[in-house]
Amino acid sequence: MGEISFDEYIKKFDRLESRYIPPKEEWLPPDEALYGVKDIYRVPLEKAKKLRFKAIKYTFKHHYENNKFYRNLCKEKNVSPDDIKSEEDFLKIPLLPDKFFKNYPEGKEFAFWIANIYTGDLPSIFIKKKNPKIDDIIREFNRKGLRIAYSSGTSGRHTFIPRDERTFNRAVYGGAKGFVSMAYPRWDFDKIHGYLSLYARNINLFAGMMGGIFTDMLKYIDYGFVLNIEVTTDILQAAMRGRRNILIRLASLYIDWRRTRKFIEWLKERDRDKDDIALLGAPFFLNHIMSLLEKKGLSFDFGDKSFVVTGGGWKIRENVRITTKEFRDRVEKVLGIPHTNCLDAYGMVEGNGFMFHCPEGHYLHIPYSYYYPIIIGKDGEPAGYGETGRFAFLDALATSYPGFIISGDEVKLLEHCPVCDRPGPVLEPEIKRAKGEEVRGCAEEVRRMLSIGSGD
Ligand SMILES: [Zn+2]
Repeated sequence: MGEISFDEYIKKFDRLESRYIPPKEEWLPPDEALYGVKDIYRVPLEKAKKLRFKAIKYTFKHHYENNKFYRNLCKEKNVSPDDIKSEEDFLKIPLLPDKFFKNYPEGKEFAFWIANIYTGDLPSIFIKKKNPKIDDIIREFNRKGLRIAYSSGTSGRHTFIPRDERTFNRAVYGGAKGFVSMAYPRWDFDKIHGYLSLYARNINLFAGMMGGIFTDMLKYIDYGFVLNIEVTTDILQAAMRGRRNILIRLASLYIDWRRTRKFIEWLKERDRDKDDIALLGAPFFLNHIMSLLEKKGLSFDFGDKSFVVTGGGWKIRENVRITTKEFRDRVEKVLGIPHTNCLDAYGMVEGNGFMFHCPEGHYLHIPYSYYYPIIIGKDGEPAGYGETGRFAFLDALATSYPGFIISGDEVKLLEHCPVCDRPGPVLEPEIKRAKGEEVRGCAEEVRRMLSIGSGD
């Protein structure tokens, strides 16, 4: 069987994802850096740096000119787009701490707060209710084409990020392209049967949105747990604070029983039909399924054309984390899928860049043609390669809000992958929340909502 060339492979990918790609004549520098490259983790360094410089400079100028609050911040720090003359000047670009996106007022004022963060013209909304809640406001904005996503920490405070369509499309396309770049040549768009363990149809939860990156990419896809209800900020807040309503708890137990049974039946069917599979989901959930399989004495041998793709964080139970290596060993033992095909993604609600594991070493590769990583040391100053600190980034893809952000995650940045030959920078695979930061992450939200792992 002849192997498909990378060019053919990525052309095919672009056809499948065409609804996320703007017409070429409308491409801006960030689009060139995303849509115009083939393997986003193998762009030659010099070329990537050129693309990234143009893209980040363009995006910085855009926010400076179209976002009053950000311009004021720049003026306070005495920086303007003219000061960005080379890559070294990137460190002058003012960063926003991730907490900034949590600092919202309740009620009507929330709409003004969003308008303040938003770069450009926000669609106007009209709400009949006298005292609208945050969810009412989000719903209206999203009806007008915005994608306001949210995520929550254990404090119950939410992070709100307003994406316009362009930013959203870039994020989805970039995430999908990152994955397929790493999965070449073993990934077959036409043959693999995907199983998306959580699919949220109508919610603004970031976890749900990003689950969608696989839906266009596979000919066959099944959905494990379809969330049809709207997960409001109230439900999420209660779940993250550990105050679950008894009805939600009972419903989730029932759903849990039903969907794990469905998942196991699906695996048996695929095994019977000798299909290649891709399991997509949060580590805690897939780990939970593997435990059940082990208890039942079931194991499979899906082989090296099948995949396990995870994202959302590595906490599997209250106070229990699993390492990515332990997880891969288990996947190999229970599902017969080798380490090379067990890939994790790291991303966050505030950013539009996804770091994917390389199959060879499982380091997290940064999409360096449009993302500029910065490590902030203990002293609050940028630190060098090889040092541990807060992960910060300049994200060229965000047009609707300034994506120049300091996160609450602690990472180690390396100039090159110690294992594979891809040219760009990487993060070490074990990522933790920095000291004093609340627990967060997409998987954690879903885990708490369904209270998986709290009893077993
Ligand atoms: Zn690597």
